Amino acid sequence: MAGKSSDKCSFCGRSSKEVGMLIAGMSGHICDQCAEQAHMIVAETLQSSKTGNSFALTGKQLPKPVEIKEFLDQYVIGQDDAKRYLSVSVYNHYKRILQKKQEDDIEIEKSNIIMVGPTGTGKTLLARTIAKLLHVPFTIVDATVLTEAGYVGEDIESLLTRLLQVADYDVDAAQRGIVFIDEIDKIARKGDNPSITRDVSGEGVQQGLLKLLEGSVVNVPPQGGRKHPEQKFIQVDTKNILFICGGAFDGIEKKIAMRLNTRVVGYAAAKETASIDRNNLMQYVAPQDLKSFGLIPEIIGRLPILTYLNQLDRDALRRILTEPKNSIIKQYVKLFDMDDVKLTFSDEALDYIVDRAIEFKLGARGLRSITESIMTDAMFDIPSSSVKELVISLEYAKNKLEKSNLSRYQVAE
Ligand code: ADP
Repeated sequence: MAGKSSDKCSFCGRSSKEVGMLIAGMSGHICDQCAEQAHMIVAETLQSSKTGNSFALTGKQLPKPVEIKEFLDQYVIGQDDAKRYLSVSVYNHYKRILQKKQEDDIEIEKSNIIMVGPTGTGKTLLARTIAKLLHVPFTIVDATVLTEAGYVGEDIESLLTRLLQVADYDVDAAQRGIVFIDEIDKIARKGDNPSITRDVSGEGVQQGLLKLLEGSVVNVPPQGGRKHPEQKFIQVDTKNILFICGGAFDGIEKKIAMRLNTRVVGYAAAKETASIDRNNLMQYVAPQDLKSFGLIPEIIGRLPILTYLNQLDRDALRRILTEPKNSIIKQYVKLFDMDDVKLTFSDEALDYIVDRAIEFKLGARGLRSITESIMTDAMFDIPSSSVKELVISLEYAKNKLEKSNLSRYQVAE
């Protein structure tokens, strides 16, 4: 519908002579270029709401604990207790954020989480997966790099800088994000005696973290660090940021055992000790064990949800290889599929990968490096060959791994 020569585009103001086409509406016109731009804006907005790029969260979208756990099950093998705790506390956390203006005096308290378990058992993976489900900004920080202000290392506020960066400097979104603090056990006080001479790397950092965990307004340097003193600070309120801490707490089992032993003296001892599973003491972890390990009571108080992760056994490692939605094996199959090559692994080859990961003491992290070593030659050669099908047999896997650099991990025991 072309307009008269005196008509103008109601958006850019150009006349019909200046544009390719002018489309008339009820009370105005739009030119071809503005229509195209409008179309792009609509398409982009639709796309970002489909892919979940927007960090908005509504009550309707909020998944229930059972759904959260089912989602975690797709990516993380085992660790059922940790999944249940996480699902409930994340659900409650978001209910708290979505809570309407205070109608009564019941204020739901923040439920920061601490996960205790050996390295490589899925702590980070759990936190990452939760963030994926909720479409909230998520960042991982290593507690070992944090230091008290004034010392070499990163200021504690820097972890909020990272969150802001992931949130694209959308302060609102960052204030509802999730921060995963890894290796929290490494900032434990070196002794259980509070009067011990103050140690900078440990207790000072814990004190600093405390401020963030309990919720306060923090001045955050936008780019992080003291290198840009001219930059203005951005104020971030940590009240609704969910902190998930993780740590291996090496040797905590001893503290748990000691506590369990001292508690069960007396006439009920025999009965109680009988029901304790000595092979898996981690499941009995309690706040006082964290205290014996060297976390200050205030920090422990701000991490009310305490849960544990199990060491991964052979069966779990075997499942990790193939079962998760983006399992290592599925990823390789997909890579080959993109070259129209059908890739399969024999069961014996998969068992072999698991056995080597256990033998090299590499745990779940080792599964990938071992599979990578086995697959490298094929990934190099096959795209330029006529091969359309590749079966990884035990022989093939053995042969490739023994040739690879990885075999140097083989412990000479
Ligand atoms: P942690 O944080 O406990 O040290 P990660 O979560 O970083 O360990 O695990 C390292 C890698 O091992 C993950 O990226 C994942 O590939 C694999 N992994 C570990 N535990 C599991 C699990 N329970 N289920 C599936 N994969 C796992």
